Amino acid sequence: MPIKVGIVRDPRYLDHKTGLVHPESPNRLRSIYRMVDKEFSDRLVAIQPELATLEDLELVHTPTYIKQILSTAERDFTPLAPDTPVSAKTYMAAWLAVGGCIKGLDALLSERCQACFCLVRPPGHHALSDRAGGFCIFNNLGVTARYAIERCGFERILIIDWDIHHGNAIQDQFYGDNRVLYLSSHYMGWYPHTGDWEETGEGEGLGFNVNLPVFKEMEDEDVLHIYREVLTPIVRNFRPQLFLVAAGFDAHHRDPLGRTRLTEKAFGWLAQMVLQLSESMRSAPILLSLEGGYDNWALAASVREVLGILTFDGRRERIPLTYTKKAAEVVDKALGIHRKYGIWTS
Ligand SMILES: [Zn+2]
Repeated sequence: MPIKVGIVRDPRYLDHKTGLVHPESPNRLRSIYRMVDKEFSDRLVAIQPELATLEDLELVHTPTYIKQILSTAERDFTPLAPDTPVSAKTYMAAWLAVGGCIKGLDALLSERCQACFCLVRPPGHHALSDRAGGFCIFNNLGVTARYAIERCGFERILIIDWDIHHGNAIQDQFYGDNRVLYLSSHYMGWYPHTGDWEETGEGEGLGFNVNLPVFKEMEDEDVLHIYREVLTPIVRNFRPQLFLVAAGFDAHHRDPLGRTRLTEKAFGWLAQMVLQLSESMRSAPILLSLEGGYDNWALAASVREVLGILTFDGRRERIPLTYTKKAAEVVDKALGIHRKYGIWTS
């Protein structure tokens, strides 16, 4: 049986203007929306986003910071951070990005769909509670996870971040919290320069933060090996009730910012792995939210692979089992560090 897949989209996400040369441009979503219209028009459940409430934004962000963002309304240009410019309608897009993810979660809970891809911008995984950065303004998935805990009673949420940059703000938000397990694969040499092996959480959250610094020569089979070896036991032991995916596609080999050697197929296989793991957890719902990805062709192609897997009604392709020595070293290193916590080794 194919699962029902929702998408969140809205033309107001295109109103966040970043200037002529900024990589996080409205063309990113235009290229995805065009592909979706062409190839998935009748296969997806359309979910209309709504603004998050201020109380929901405050689940993660400080009232002062929220006021600062809303005060940029209708001003042509405000540099929130050196890499994060804001235009007149940015506040609306950012507010609606959080609200879109929450509406996506509501759609999953009401069983309108079993997986939902929130095709929103600006991205969110670098947005701290009181500071914008890395093209991010509000922490879309951070708020969604808090909302799921505080408003919907979830007790165990797994956040998987396959963007090539470390999601410092998601880590920061749940660093001392054992109800949210954050797992990120990323390259350490780039922004935001966090996400080292030894950042494993603190207090009750110790062991619930899994960083997997990867290497630039990483190929499809490598990332799949790393995720299979680490994610499978984590899911078995942690037993997540909800899967959230910080779905960035800047590890694609064409991407101008985060080039590794991945093809768009890798993201489809990763989605397949997440889907199979969710099925092993009594079909726990899956919500993906768009993070990075700055080559428009690669972005649309990668989202096509993910949606293709999620909506596919047929025999699934076998995930490749080969990998390089370096990928095995990543798994060994992670295992060495996390063995003492037992969350995925017991
Ligand atoms: Zn990124």
